[in-house]
Amino acid sequence: MNELREFVDSESLKLHSSEFGGLQVLPCPQCNFEYVHIIQVSVNRERDKIIARHDEVSIKEEANTTKGVIISIEYVCESFHHGLIFFHFFEGNVEICHKPLPQLKGEFKDLFRK
Ligand SMILES: [Zn+2]
Repeated sequence: MNELREFVDSESLKLHSSEFGGLQVLPCPQCNFEYVHIIQVSVNRERDKIIARHDEVSIKEEANTTKGVIISIEYVCESFHHGLIFFHFFEGNVEICHKPLPQLKGEFKDLFRK
């Protein structure tokens, strides 16, 4: 995964059963809290990046320096941890890694809220 390899943190990305309905959920990779809000999703292909936020979907030119596609999910948990979860797809394999980010200043909006 090239430059993403520094963010590989397999211990933090563990599914567990939700207390509601028994489905598997991904808790916060930093504190294990179950309430995680997705605030942005992006797909970085070879030459462009598609970004979906609560108020817009955009496409911009941004070269992906790794081989394959990188799908990144930006999250904030209800304890204010902030980070990125990457799915790197290349030649039939999907690698997953996590990068903690600095705490957000101000409020955030879920991907699906206007
Ligand atoms: Zn957290």
